[in-house]
Amino acid sequence: MKFKLPQRQTTGAVVCFSCQKIVAVDQDKCCHCGQPHPGLWGYSRPIRRLGADFGFIKIVSVGCIGLYIATLLFDLPGVRSESAFKLLAPSSYSLAIFGSTGSIPLFVWGRWWTVFSAAWLHGDLWHLGFNLAWLHYLSPMVTAGYGAGRLVSIYAFTTLTSSLLTSCVAQYWLTLPAFFQGARFSVGASGGVFGLLGALLLYGQLSGRQQIFRQALTLVVITFVLSAFVGNVDNWGHLGGLIGGYLIGWTPWFNPNQPQRLYHLGIATGALVLMAISIIASPLHGLFLQID
Ligand SMILES: [Zn+2]
Repeated sequence: MKFKLPQRQTTGAVVCFSCQKIVAVDQDKCCHCGQPHPGLWGYSRPIRRLGADFGFIKIVSVGCIGLYIATLLFDLPGVRSESAFKLLAPSSYSLAIFGSTGSIPLFVWGRWWTVFSAAWLHGDLWHLGFNLAWLHYLSPMVTAGYGAGRLVSIYAFTTLTSSLLTSCVAQYWLTLPAFFQGARFSVGASGGVFGLLGALLLYGQLSGRQQIFRQALTLVVITFVLSAFVGNVDNWGHLGGLIGGYLIGWTPWFNPNQPQRLYHLGIATGALVLMAISIIASPLHGLFLQID
């Protein structure tokens, strides 16, 4: 199979990635919003073909499904299906090797990079399916409000705040009743999902679009109430993501009322590289670590 590199566009019109208005591809500066290189050096069209989110949700879906299969295959005898609601669960040993986070990986094993890798692992088939469905549902809204570059950065940042909050609560807040404790081990993309919900809350608030604010708030309340009835839900992880997603939009760089800029795409690329390194580092390091 032949692989063709995308052709660089040198003539004609493109959509400015910042203000979404039409500009000539060879313009150095957007005549509408002043953004330098509005046509991304002629690569704006091939990038757009990957989707409005520049292919991010495809990357997350392929990554999460691939790693889920890898965690199953790595320890096949350890795979469990305890009930219809917990199907094909990889063993906790396998998840630990591939990079689950929580107070034990962070504070006992010193695997600090798992704050990112854990978001790409899932505890069973439903967990994987639900989180990917959430991401497919929420990411177009966040892309519309913040732009693709900020979508990726918000996702990566809130994965971090989610992992940190639940791990720190588990490590340092020992007087909590069992049900409210933080996670000693945690996996799943839902910290990032709640990060997107937090970002949407703020977007609705700052842009005056009350409908989006109410929709995001309803989803947050429903999920927190539902999880009160389901065991094994990492509420602190969800809260950490939600707070991170809400707060990051208050910074001048992530304010949804400001258009997306070139440096947002740079930060997003850095965030993707960081997450990829954490995913690779986990099994490489894990295979040389004695985990009981
Ligand atoms: Zn523009």
